[in-house]
Amino acid sequence: MGLQDVRARILAAETAAGRPAGSATLIAVSKVQPLERVEAVLQAGHRVFGENRVQEAAGKWPAFRERFADVILHLIGPLQTNKARQAVELCDAIQTLDRPKLAAKIADAMAATGRSPALFVQVNTGAEPQKAGAPPDEADGFIAACRRDYGLTVAGLMAIPPADAEPAPHFALLREIAARNGVEGLSMGMSGDFEVAVAMGATHVRVGSAIFGERAYEA
Ligand SMILES: *Cc1c(COP(=O)(O)O)cnc(C)c1O
Repeated sequence: MGLQDVRARILAAETAAGRPAGSATLIAVSKVQPLERVEAVLQAGHRVFGENRVQEAAGKWPAFRERFADVILHLIGPLQTNKARQAVELCDAIQTLDRPKLAAKIADAMAATGRSPALFVQVNTGAEPQKAGAPPDEADGFIAACRRDYGLTVAGLMAIPPADAEPAPHFALLREIAARNGVEGLSMGMSGDFEVAVAMGATHVRVGSAIFGERAYEA
C-alpha cells in the first residue's frame, strides 16, 4: 500500500462520510520499522508519527527531530508510571492515559517540565483482561477524575478493538463515551479498519503496516 495510497484512502473515506478533507489525522506508526523506512516517510513530507514504547521513541526521534523539527509524536503504547516524565518530555501526545496513578504522574511531569502533551484516555472497549485501557463502565468516572482531581484536559479517547472482533461496535462505543463526556478527539482505526473508523468519526487513525510494510516482529 504505502503512504500515498493510505492518504488517498483516508481522503476518499472522509469525502464519502461528508467530512472535510484532512479532518482525520494520519498517525504513521513507526514502531519496530527500520529507520530507512521512517526516513522515507519523513522525506515524503509526513510529520505525524506514533510509537508504542518510550524507550524506542527516545532512541529514534530526538535525532530525526534535529532535521525535521515539526515532527509530532504520539505515544500509543502502554505507559508505566516510572516513564511518565520521559514520555511528557518526548511526546506531543500521550494516548494511553488509563488510570489515576498515571494521571497523577503525568500531571506532576507537566508541572515540572512546563510541557503539555495532548492527552487521550484509552478505553478497553472489549474489556479484555490483558489489554490496557479504562474499562468502558469506568470511563466516565475516570475522565471526570482526570479533569477534576488532576486538572488535565482530555483531548480525546483511544481504543484498540479486540483483534478478532468486528471493529465497528467498538468504534461506536468509543464515540458514544466521547460524546457524553464532551471529548472531541477519537483515535481509532489501524491498517485493517481505518476507513471504517473515518466513516465513524475518527479524528486520528493509527496506521503502521499499511504504510511501512509488515513489521519484522510484533512490538
Ligand atoms: C502497532 C499499533 C498500531 C498500528 O497497527 P497496524 O495494524 O500495523 O496499522 C496502531 N495502534 C496501536 C496502539 C499499535 O500498537
